[in-house]
Amino acid sequence: MGVRHISWELCNACGICIENCPMDALRADETTGKAFIQYLRDCQSCFLCQKECPVEAITCYPSFERRIPQAWSA
Ligand code: SF4
Ligand code: SF4
Repeated sequence: MGVRHISWELCNACGICIENCPMDALRADETTGKAFIQYLRDCQSCFLCQKECPVEAITCYPSFERRIPQAWSA
C-alpha cells in the first residue's frame, strides 16, 4: 500500500519528502506546495519520506505497492 496518508493539515510544504524519495513518487501541489503521492504504484514502502518529514505528516504502510509476479504457483 505504500504511502497511506499525507496530512495537509500538518504539511508545511518544505519539500523534504519529495527530495528524498528514491522512487520520485511524490510531488508538490501547484497551489499550496504541499506534498502528495503522484505515483503510488512506484512507492516501495521504504519509509524514507515518513522518517524525514519534520512534522510527521506522512504515514506509510509496510508492504510493496507493486508485487513481483511469480512464474509459477506452489
Ligand atoms: S515510502 Fe519511500 S518510495 Fe514510497 S513515497 Fe516514501 S520515500 Fe518514496
Ligand atoms: S516532508 Fe512533510 S512537511 Fe515537508 S513537504 Fe513532505 S509531507 Fe510536507
